[in-house]
Amino acid sequence: MIRRLDRRGLRGFLDGLGLAPPLDTGHLVERLTESRGRPLRLIDHPIQMPGPFGCWIATPTTDYVVYQRETTPAHQAHIVLHELGHIIAGHDRSGVGDLGDLVPPAESSRLIRAHPEIDRDSADRALTRNAYTCRQEREAESIATILTSWSVPDPAAVDDGSTGVLGRLEASMRDTRWT
Ligand SMILES: [Zn+2]
Repeated sequence: MIRRLDRRGLRGFLDGLGLAPPLDTGHLVERLTESRGRPLRLIDHPIQMPGPFGCWIATPTTDYVVYQRETTPAHQAHIVLHELGHIIAGHDRSGVGDLGDLVPPAESSRLIRAHPEIDRDSADRALTRNAYTCRQEREAESIATILTSWSVPDPAAVDDGSTGVLGRLEASMRDTRWT
């Protein structure tokens, strides 16, 4: 889905989706859904630890990004962008996951019980088969880091009562990184 996995390549990719900073993850998900012609759903789930924090499950009809419920909002946002990074990079969606061998088979049962709309076979593949390669992990993490630097500032991160001014300032500073 993307040719160059650097800032310039990613900017061109987002331009193609009609997106500009500050980037909103919800809008990114909407535009990815439209451009790929497949619904993309984000699901928070209490993934058992130890284990990775997120997973992309590709069913025949729908992509699910499952992310750890038991962590901070900022961490959750990064997990989601990491998984979207795998999607944007076009990594093989047929039999890989971020959970590798770390997660017992019971994990997919727990997930399916909570979200019966997810195709069981697809979940089993994503949750129990081989993990991504190191290179793919670096690519997804690089995309997540760049997208985070372009993201809408989290108002909760500003705690001195001047959210509006600081928020706008931070947003404008982030805009200058859109190069
Ligand atoms: Zn990953």
